[in-house]
Amino acid sequence: MKGLIFNIQRYSIQDGPGIRTTVFMKGCPLKCIWCANPEGQKPVPEILYDKNKCNKCYQCVNACLHGAISIFQDGFIDINRRICKRCKKYPCIDACGEEALKLVGKFVTIEELMQEVEKDSLFYRNSNGGVTLSGGEPTKQFEFILEFFKRCKEKGIHTILDTCGYTSWGSLKKILEYIDLVLYDIKHIDSEKHKKFTGVSNEIILSNAKALLDNNIKTIFRIPIIPGYNDEKENIETIARFLKEIGGKEVNLLPYHRLGIKKYEKLGINYSLKIQSPTKRSLEEIKAIFKEKGLKCLII
Ligand code: SF4
Ligand code: SF4
Repeated sequence: MKGLIFNIQRYSIQDGPGIRTTVFMKGCPLKCIWCANPEGQKPVPEILYDKNKCNKCYQCVNACLHGAISIFQDGFIDINRRICKRCKKYPCIDACGEEALKLVGKFVTIEELMQEVEKDSLFYRNSNGGVTLSGGEPTKQFEFILEFFKRCKEKGIHTILDTCGYTSWGSLKKILEYIDLVLYDIKHIDSEKHKKFTGVSNEIILSNAKALLDNNIKTIFRIPIIPGYNDEKENIETIARFLKEIGGKEVNLLPYHRLGIKKYEKLGINYSLKIQSPTKRSLEEIKAIFKEKGLKCLII
C-alpha cells in the first residue's frame, strides 16, 4: 500500500503541541478559493513550473513526445495539463537543466514514511510533540492513514489528524482510536456560502464535528479568517454558538495570507482573490467573540 504525499515538514511548532513532523497528504475533496496549498488539492503528482528559473532553452518541449508543452508568445512554456500523460519517468523534468520543472507529489510506503518520521522521535519525546497528518485532506487516503496512525501508536508517537471533516463518520470513527488530537476546520456556518467558497456544503462537516465531541475526542477547531468571505460578525457569532452548543472548548484562528500565490502560478492556475490579510484589530474582535462564549481562542 502506498500513500501520496506532497511535503514533510520537520520541526513544526504550529500543527499541535511540541515539536512535530507534519506530513501533507495530497488530494482534497474541497477547493477553497483561499487555499494556501493548491499543490495539495489534486490526488495525483503534478509538475510545477518556475518561470524565474527558466532560461527558455526548450529542452522540455523537445523531450515531451505527447505535445503537452508548447511555447507562449512571451517565450515561456505552457504545460497543457489535460494532455500531459504524467509519464513514468517525467522526461520533461529530466531534460531541464535549470530545475525550472519540479514534480510535486510522491508515493511512499508505510515503512518509508515511518522511517522518515521516526528520525525525530527524540524531539517528540523531549517536547511532548509527535506527528501530524495534514493536507490536502488526509482522510481521502483512508486505508493508508489508518495503517500509518496504527504504526505510530505502536511506536508510542503522539498523533494528530488535521482535517476539513468532509468524510463519512464511519471512516473517521475507525481512525479515531489511533489519534490523540483532532485539528478540525470550520470554514463557514452557512452551507450555501460554504459551497460557494469551498465547492462543498457543510452539513457533513458540522455533523462530524458534533460526533467527535459526543465521542469525547479531544478536538481543536480551526477557523481560517478570510476578510470579506467568512469574517462577518454574524458568521463568527453563529460558529461560536454552534461550537459552544456541541461542547467545543478551543478555537484557533488562522489569518488569511498570500504566501501560497506563487504556487498557483507554478501550477498554471489563476488566483482570483484580491484581498489582504485581516488586521490585528479585526482578529482581536473575532477572538473576543469566541472568548465571550467561554471558548479558549488563539490566533495562530
Ligand atoms: S510528463 Fe510526459 S506528457 Fe507530461 S509534460 Fe512531461 S513529458 Fe510531456
Ligand atoms: S527545459 Fe527548463 S529551462 Fe528549458 S524551457 Fe523547459 S523549463 Fe525552461
